[in-house]
Amino acid sequence: MRTFPVFISFDGKPPLVVGGGELAAVKTRLLLKRAEIVDVAANALGAELAKLAEQGQVNCVPPAPGIDQLRGRPLVIAATEDDEEDSRVSAIARALGVPVNVPDRLELCTFALPAIVDRGEVTVAIGTSAAAPVLAQRLRAWLEQELHPRLDALAKLAGEFREHVAEKLPAGPSRRHFWETVFDGAAADAMLKGDEPKARALIGEAIEQASASGGPQGRVLLVGAGPGDPELLTLKAVRALKAADVVFYDRLVGDGVLDCARREAELIPVGKAKGAHSVPQSEINAALIERAKAGQIVVRLKGGDPFVFGRGGEELDALRAENIAIEIVPGVTAGVAAAASLQIPLTHRDVSHTVTFVSGHEAGGKEPSFAHLDLTALASGNNTLIVYMGVTTGAVIAQRLLEAGFRPGLPVIAVENASRDDERRVATTIATLAAQPKSLGLKSPAVLIFGEVAGLPASGIVEDILASEEVARAYA
Ligand code: SAH
Repeated sequence: MRTFPVFISFDGKPPLVVGGGELAAVKTRLLLKRAEIVDVAANALGAELAKLAEQGQVNCVPPAPGIDQLRGRPLVIAATEDDEEDSRVSAIARALGVPVNVPDRLELCTFALPAIVDRGEVTVAIGTSAAAPVLAQRLRAWLEQELHPRLDALAKLAGEFREHVAEKLPAGPSRRHFWETVFDGAAADAMLKGDEPKARALIGEAIEQASASGGPQGRVLLVGAGPGDPELLTLKAVRALKAADVVFYDRLVGDGVLDCARREAELIPVGKAKGAHSVPQSEINAALIERAKAGQIVVRLKGGDPFVFGRGGEELDALRAENIAIEIVPGVTAGVAAAASLQIPLTHRDVSHTVTFVSGHEAGGKEPSFAHLDLTALASGNNTLIVYMGVTTGAVIAQRLLEAGFRPGLPVIAVENASRDDERRVATTIATLAAQPKSLGLKSPAVLIFGEVAGLPASGIVEDILASEEVARAYA
């Protein structure tokens, strides 16, 4: 049974439990967590139900309820433990459209009872669509530990301030940001520690401040999304995504990462695929500025790290010029992720003492001249060179490196789609790469790692494209 979770209001109408035994008592107790009174239809009440009836929490009604007794109920639980009677009750309830549950008889149910973590105003209901009740119980035990026992008091306090906040702060980002700061800050801490007067004072102050500042202060977070695997997001990146009003994201950002964004956040692709012209940088800058000025929390989400070939610097300049508050959240850059996945170190005491990140393209999309790089110096040292955006220019790069004096057999390892399900690795040498105009059949995005470290044993499957002797001789 696939179910959709909702919270039902009893709205003064008592739910009905059919049956007077122990099972009926268990279900009645559960309902009494929220219902003031539960109607129990039974011939006779067992000890526990009889006691609840004495306390006025259970109202005993005649057994074998029919259409009139079931119509209009917020919900019905048939727990007579008599299959025929439970089926009969379930059939009537279903015909009337009244939600019905029969314990352990999935086919007779229209709703499932969740495992509940009860913190008063704050309730967590856990369902597994009946697939794994034990798992639900385990989750419940875990949440019981994780959720602060005074969460209820905090929610009630927030409830008390709700109207006042609504009067002082306009609906939308302004109000939401206010509550986020309250729940993340000192006021919530005080309340959870049991210092209610302090919590009240702090919330009062925060309301005054927020309404005096004339609206929320927008800001832009330049966030590194990492190479693709959402597990490689930083905690700060996840927090930024959860707080975002709007997310401008690049083409390289995967769906798994976007799933971490706040459900109501606007997700806007501004991806730059090579060759395909998407939103120009000036327009992206203008959009970031406009949204921040409107008071929004703007997340500019970029693959890898925002400051490694991410044009983060240009956006930073534009935002600074407009005095917009900025935060930078670093990310795992593709080259580093590729090395981790291969299990080869980028520096190594014996073979590599420096790492250079190089772009395989130059601004404007021209073929790279690498005039700005002292390749000879790099060739003579124990250096690791990581080339980004080098899929179509890999062969040219290898050629230049050979001319600069790199040895033809120098290992190169390329990783396509690092950290993603479709990751692919190819090992070769610069001589072979230089002779391959198609760049080893690699597809973008890929990074190429040049250097002795690329020849260290790598983990996992690596396609080997060995240098032919002919190729090696040509460059020797
Ligand atoms: N800011 C990004 C780089 C953006 S430039 C970072 O720090 O990783 C785009 C280039 O990054 C691609 O052409 C490719 O070389 C590299 N890249 C990005 N994601 C990658 C991935 N998952 N696997 C391999 N290379 C990737």
